[in-house]
Amino acid sequence: MPPLSTSPTRTLDALKRAGLLGTAAQVAVLDYLQRTEHGHFSAEEIHRRIAAGGERMNLSTTYRVLSQLVEAGFVANVPLGKHHSLYELDSGKAHDHLVCVVCGRVEEFSDPKINRRRIAIAKKFGLRIVGKTLALHGVCADCAARAHPPRPRAK
Ligand SMILES: [Zn+2]
Ligand SMILES: [Zn+2]
Repeated sequence: MPPLSTSPTRTLDALKRAGLLGTAAQVAVLDYLQRTEHGHFSAEEIHRRIAAGGERMNLSTTYRVLSQLVEAGFVANVPLGKHHSLYELDSGKAHDHLVCVVCGRVEEFSDPKINRRRIAIAKKFGLRIVGKTLALHGVCADCAARAHPPRPRAK
């Protein structure tokens, strides 16, 4: 997806061009992600922030809208394991994520070799990629240091 303008009218136009209805909930979610570019958020977080802005929308609508936006290519989904995902604006640039399973920190990386392999693998299985993102799960250096603080050396 090319970068979108942050005006709600343009957001609505873009949604309609992609074949979506452009409901108030779709506009609210996409608008929120556009204003917070480079952020990675859970559906609950997106729902909470939008509700705090005065928009009336329930959590199941937020989930439904997010999957519509992923399907239409506006939003990318970062899998976090069982029943849990983070969402971000799909910048169109393939990138992957390193996710700390302890503190939830997300770092981005991009590797052209992985990108090429990903496309080749999807093609082999006849899969049309809509998520565009992979995640490596692990324990970040900070959390690892907290769990196993370096011991003072015995003399
Ligand atoms: Zn961590
Ligand atoms: Zn990302």
